[in-house]
Amino acid sequence: MTYDLQPPASHYVNGRYVEDTAGAVIEVIYPATGAVIAKLHEATEAVIEEAITSALAAQKAWAAMSGTERGRILRRAADIMRERNHDLSVLETHDTGKPLQETLVADATSGADALEYFGGLAASLTGEHIPLGDGNFAYTMREALGLCVGIGAWNYPTQIACWKGAPALACGNAMIFKPSETTPLSALKVAEILVEAGLPAGLFNVVQGTGKVGGPLVTDPRVNKVSLTGSVPTGRKVYAAAAEGMKHVTMELGGKSPLVIFDDADLDSAVSGAINGNFYSTGQVCSNGTRVFVQKGIKEAFLARLTERLKGAKMGDPLDESVNFGPMVSENQISIVERYVAKGQEEGARLVTGGKRLDQDGYWIEPTVFADVTDDMVIAREEIFGPVMCVLDFEDEAEVLARANDTEFGLAAGVFTADLTRAHRMVAGFEAGTCFINSYNDAPVEVPFGGSKMSGVGRENAKSAINHYSELKSVFVRLDACEAAF
Ligand code: NDP
Repeated sequence: MTYDLQPPASHYVNGRYVEDTAGAVIEVIYPATGAVIAKLHEATEAVIEEAITSALAAQKAWAAMSGTERGRILRRAADIMRERNHDLSVLETHDTGKPLQETLVADATSGADALEYFGGLAASLTGEHIPLGDGNFAYTMREALGLCVGIGAWNYPTQIACWKGAPALACGNAMIFKPSETTPLSALKVAEILVEAGLPAGLFNVVQGTGKVGGPLVTDPRVNKVSLTGSVPTGRKVYAAAAEGMKHVTMELGGKSPLVIFDDADLDSAVSGAINGNFYSTGQVCSNGTRVFVQKGIKEAFLARLTERLKGAKMGDPLDESVNFGPMVSENQISIVERYVAKGQEEGARLVTGGKRLDQDGYWIEPTVFADVTDDMVIAREEIFGPVMCVLDFEDEAEVLARANDTEFGLAAGVFTADLTRAHRMVAGFEAGTCFINSYNDAPVEVPFGGSKMSGVGRENAKSAINHYSELKSVFVRLDACEAAF
């Protein structure tokens, strides 16, 4: 790899790396070994202030450029990201622990897709003409919001930076992005590449830190929009803080999504869906289908096939491309998962496979499957955010739909069945923002992504993201005389 794991400085502000050693030290840990691979500093007030003032100074001129010019820069950044995919993937693997086999196809590539997609859309962001009779008319203008703050979770640092940055910039906004303190490295490269592609300084700034840095950014009166990817408890706090300033928000939060498998489903395909929806990225995916409802008649066949297929999970050096199952991101996260595994056993769920932490450095735990899980168990109600699948039985369609929806979350839901009429009936009934039929966890940039209920507000990706990074100004134009009552 050509990148040093230790970046030149902690933050990327106003088109360059910036350091302030007065900030608390952030140790970056490689999850596969537990080794410290870089040391950064949390952003101080001075760094945050420079991020805000440089963003404000650059934003108006950026918004005044044509969409074609803005889009060209974003698409150039997409090309650079693709050219450097291998190096960026190696860095992402060090940041998150996710195996290179995954990062090569799901991180910088997904970020590049967002830059290319929104770069392509930038030139066609227009208002409309509304005729009002007698020659009078109105028109709408689509305007940038101004300064947007993006706050990321640790599971997809490159992708989250791009999913937020690309639509924000396409619409003419500036963005300050705060990665999770656990995975601070990758977003710096996104900023560097955007500037290399021609993005004027100040428009995409990266500042490091915990909620102590995110908090002041959210409440700063100069910030117009906040987009958070994180947990429901953080979302509640950030949403409330943003509401004080009547700011626009996008909240991409957690879930406990249902995946329903009927007895007519192709068994191997359904097992693949359940594996993708529980064990990809070691289960650290917000939309995971962690409540797997399996129709009674095929339950044991499903569990037998699943157990067999899980033997194909290969742990080891994440940089070895044949490894397909990595460590968890941190000691904190693996200990949360271990507590849930113990809780599941205590509650009487049947541990079918896995459940053990590996006796080695780093944060390794086996892919874990519980069967005979019931709706009221803690492991069936709370988001675990790790490689723990809960299998529940069901008898019929009406019953499983009601149980699938019996949760505060509403991020995603999936169904496997050969009966497409039933599949469409099920998705019409699911209380979830993102649904899958005979598939699970696809997230192409062309399709809106987001949750309902406690899982969030707004949508990322697709044309719908534009509405969350711009607002309409309506302009009335009278060509005849303006009259009044007196
Ligand atoms: P957290 O909610 O703990 O943190 C999310 C981000 O918010 C982090 O950058 C965090 O900083 C920051 N933060 C924490 N407190 C505040 C605050 N008061 N003000 C401003 N910012 C704050 O989530 P995790 O990082 O643990 O990520 C896991 C969660 O994210 C899961 O619940 C998962 O479901 C959800 N998620 C949702 C996705 C979606 O698209 N719907 C996608 C991916 C994950 P720091 O952690 O550095 O202190």
